[in-house]
Amino acid sequence: EVAMVEPDRQVESVCPYCGVGCQLTYNIKDDKILYVEGRDGPANHGRLCVKGRYGFDYVHHPHRLTKPLIRREGAPKSGDFTMEPNDIDKIFREATWEEALDMAAKGFLKIRDEKGPNALAGFGSAKGSNEEAYLFQKLIRTGFKTNNVDHCTRLCHASSVVALLECLGSGAVSNPVADVDKADVIVLIGANPTVNHPVGATWMKNALRAGTKLILLDPRTTELSRQATHHLAFKPGSDVPMLNAIMHVIVEENLVDKNFVAERTLGFEAMKKHLQKYSPELMEPICGIPAQTLREVARLYATANTAMILWGMGVSQHVHGTDNARCLISLSLMTGQIGRPGTGLHPLRGQNNVQGASDMGLIPMRLPDYYKVQDDSARHKLEQLWGSEIDSKPGLTVVEIMDAIHEGKLNGLYIMGENPAMSDPDANHARQALSELDILVVQDIFLTETAYLADVILPASGFPEKTGTFTNTDRLVQMGRTAIPMPGDARQDLWIIQQIAQRMGLDWNYDGPKEVFDEIRKAVPSMGGITWERLEREHGVVYPCEQEGDPGEPIIFTDRFPTTDGRGLFVPADIVEPDERPDDEYPYILITGRMLEHWHTGSMTRRSNVLDALEPEAVATIHPLTLEEMNVRPGEMVTLSTRRGEVSVVARVDEAVPTGAIFMAFCYYEAAVNKLSNAALDPAAKIPEFKYCAVKVTPGGEP
Ligand code: SF4
Repeated sequence: EVAMVEPDRQVESVCPYCGVGCQLTYNIKDDKILYVEGRDGPANHGRLCVKGRYGFDYVHHPHRLTKPLIRREGAPKSGDFTMEPNDIDKIFREATWEEALDMAAKGFLKIRDEKGPNALAGFGSAKGSNEEAYLFQKLIRTGFKTNNVDHCTRLCHASSVVALLECLGSGAVSNPVADVDKADVIVLIGANPTVNHPVGATWMKNALRAGTKLILLDPRTTELSRQATHHLAFKPGSDVPMLNAIMHVIVEENLVDKNFVAERTLGFEAMKKHLQKYSPELMEPICGIPAQTLREVARLYATANTAMILWGMGVSQHVHGTDNARCLISLSLMTGQIGRPGTGLHPLRGQNNVQGASDMGLIPMRLPDYYKVQDDSARHKLEQLWGSEIDSKPGLTVVEIMDAIHEGKLNGLYIMGENPAMSDPDANHARQALSELDILVVQDIFLTETAYLADVILPASGFPEKTGTFTNTDRLVQMGRTAIPMPGDARQDLWIIQQIAQRMGLDWNYDGPKEVFDEIRKAVPSMGGITWERLEREHGVVYPCEQEGDPGEPIIFTDRFPTTDGRGLFVPADIVEPDERPDDEYPYILITGRMLEHWHTGSMTRRSNVLDALEPEAVATIHPLTLEEMNVRPGEMVTLSTRRGEVSVVARVDEAVPTGAIFMAFCYYEAAVNKLSNAALDPAAKIPEFKYCAVKVTPGGEP
C-alpha cells in the first residue's frame, strides 16, 4: 500500500523551460514541491511536456548555492569542471553578503574609473524575469555606463530578430503557435518542436490530423516527418539556394499576390530580378532537392488560403542565419501569407523568457522596446526616465566580448544566470577568456562551469522562489509566482542587482517586481497598457497592449508593418558558404542542438532526478551508414575532434541524422560539445555557426 502525500498548498505559475510558456501549478508540502500539474493557459490548455512535468526538483538539489563565495587568493582558474568538484573548498571560501557585494562593486568601479566603461560588460539571462532583465540592462547602461550587455538570444535567434526588424520593423512573431489550427499549410524549417517545443508541437499534430498540410524543410528526419506532405531533407547549410528556388517558381509561375505586394511592400522588382538566377534546376545539385519537388512546394505554399511559417535554430545558427530569415520573410510577403489568422512568421523562441529579455533591451545595440541605441530621440526619452546618460555607441555581443577579453580590452564581467563556459562556441576559448578577467562576478543557483571560474559567486533565487513576468514565444506576458522559500542565504536576483547598483552610486530602491514592472510600462510602450493587477487576475496578457483595457493583439501586421512607411521590405540574399567545410582531415559535419529531456547547458535538468535518469549520458547520434563507414558499432566510444578541441562520447545509431553528419546536444559537462563548435559569426546578427562545422571521428576514447 502506498501512502499518498497530500500537498498543503498550491501556487499557480508558468514553466521555467521553453518559450511555449505553459502555465502550471506547483503542489507543495512543507515548502517542498511534490509535483506539478498543467493549468489551462492560452499556450498549453492543461498540457505539459516531460520537462515541465518532472523537471522541478532541481530547486531542492543539495548542490544549490546557499552562501556567497569568494575565490581564494592564488586559486588557479583552470582545470576541467566536474559536477561535484572535490577541491571546491580549496578554490572558494564562504563570505558574507556585505563582503561579496563590496568586492564585486569595487572591482567593477575600479575598472570603470581606471580603464573606462567599455572595459566592463554584463550577460543577463533569458531564464530571468522581465523585471530582472530590465534592471540588469539598466545597471549596465547607467552604472557600468556601457552598452556591452547581451544574453543568449545572441546564440539562438539574433539573426531572426535582425531580419524581422530590418524587413518588417518588429522582431517578434506575427501569429501565435496555436494559429496552426487555422493554417491550410504549415512550413516548418530548421525546427524540431516535438523535442524543443513539445506542447507547441501538439497543436501542430492536431492541425495535421484535421487536414492541414505540412511542408517540413530539415536535413534531419524528425518525428513530424511522418506526417509531412513533403519532407525536403536539404543539404545542411543550403537554406538560401533552396528558398530562393522556391521563390523563383512563385514569380515564374505567376503565383505572387500582386495586390499585397503593390500595397504593402517595397523592393519587389529588385527581388524578382535577383531570383532569376535561382531556378530549381540550377539549385537542385546545390541543395539536394529535386527541382520538381521545389516546384510542388512553391505551388502548395503560394496557393494555400492560409499558410504559416515556423522556424528554429536550424535557420538562425549559421553565418548566413540572417539571410535565411530574410528569405522566409520574402516568401511570406510575395504571397501575402501574413497579417491574417493562420498565416505569418513564427521564429520559435527557445528559453521561457528570451522574448522578454530582448524586449527589455538586454541586447547591446537596442534599448528597451528595440529602439536603436543611436536613436537620439528614444535615448533622450529613456535618459529622462532613468535620470542618467546612456552611451550612443552600440556595445559588444557575447562572442565579441570574449574576443575583447582575450585582447586585454575588457577586464570585468557580471554574469547573471548564464553559462557561457558551456553555451558559447569554441568553449575552450571562452573558458580561457573568462579566466583572464580581472573580476568575474557570477550570480546563479548552482556552481556552473562558468561560476567555477568566478572571483565572486552570488547565490540567487530559483524560478519557483520568485515572482515576476515572463514573455513567451507568442508575445504573451505571464505571471510567475513565488512558490517556495530560497535555501540558506540565497537572495532574490532583483535584490542582488540593486545592491550592486547602490554600491556603484545609483540611488535605487525598487520595492519588489511590481514597482519595476510599472517602470517597464513607461520604457516599453508596447506593454504600456498591461497592469500588474490584470496579470495577477488573468495570468497572462499578449502585447502589443498600449492602453489600459486594450485586449492585446495575438496577430499583428494586419494592415501595416511598423516600419517608417508601413511597408514590408524585400531583402535579397545570395549564397554564403558555411564557414568551415568538411575536408580530408575533418571529413564530417557536426551539428549541435538540444534534446527533449535536458535543457540548454543542463544546469537545472541534469539535477532533476527523472530527467537525468532518462538521459544520463552524452551521446553522439550518427546515421548507421556513417557509423559503418567509421568502423564503429553503436554503443562504442568515439572521439570527436575539430580544429578547436576534442570530446569522447558513446556513439548512438540514429537514422534521423543525415549521412555524413553527427548530432550532439550541448547539455553534458562531461562532453561539452561546444569545445568543438565554430565561433564564426553571421556578420549582421553576430550569431555563431552552431549548426555546421567540420569534424573528425576516431573510434575509442576515454569517457
Ligand atoms: Fe515547459 Fe516548454 Fe514543456 Fe511547456 S512545452 S512544459 S513550456 S518545456
